[in-house]
Amino acid sequence: MTKKELLYEGKAKRLFTTDDPDLLIAEFKDDLTAFNGEKHSEEQGKGALNNKISSELFKLLDNTGIPTHFVDMLDENHMLVKRVDIILIEVVVRNIATGSLTRRLGIEDGKKLPFALVEFYYKRDDLGDPLINDEHCLILDLVKNEADLEELKRLGREINTILKAFFRKKELNLVDFKVEFGYDRDGKIVLADEISPDSCRFWDIKSGEKLDKDRFRQSLGGVKLAYEEVLKRIMTK
Ligand code: UDP
Repeated sequence: MTKKELLYEGKAKRLFTTDDPDLLIAEFKDDLTAFNGEKHSEEQGKGALNNKISSELFKLLDNTGIPTHFVDMLDENHMLVKRVDIILIEVVVRNIATGSLTRRLGIEDGKKLPFALVEFYYKRDDLGDPLINDEHCLILDLVKNEADLEELKRLGREINTILKAFFRKKELNLVDFKVEFGYDRDGKIVLADEISPDSCRFWDIKSGEKLDKDRFRQSLGGVKLAYEEVLKRIMTK
């Protein structure tokens, strides 16, 4: 399978068409961005790490009944995926308060939440990805109906249950994460985009060390080492 036309370029990935109209190739880039693109850098090898980490996590989720767009990992930086219409909602699931939640609501950083919190953000860079509620989603026509919103929440929680248990065994706390979904050609909602240390927060269970993009956001250094450590733990039986 080879790349044809560039369909879309985002901050961390490029999407290409292929000979098959139902399949796309995602190329994972080495770019790192934060604060809605205001902070930008490059980390050689980061794209390959996220491609591998995402591929492994998509396989894990597929095997546990979560429909995903993942088809195959093609090479270091490329993933073959099913073409979907991306739903413009970023679904964030949180187990521990940190980041924008603590800033917005004054909840103490590191506080364990009593249950997994699911939030919707409008995927609109020009508006700074604002937090939105169910009614906003319907007024903006982001999904077809209310049942689809319930499905996004159900899938978000289910993905959280699976990944939280998986990472606990790897001595990592899954603090929070962002996922994106799309409609496939049959109108079914499937997990899309990526799941990586760019889009999840992982804290080492023993030391509390951050092993995710917060190392870049907070200029802590050791970004690539952290991503490598996450991959190593995923691959260790
Ligand atoms: N996140 C993401 N893309 C975004 C915003 C957030 O992948 O555009 C992820 C982020 O890595 C974290 C979770 O979603 O795992 C919650 O992020 P938060 O709302 O706390 O945002 P931040 O602190 O980055 O402003």
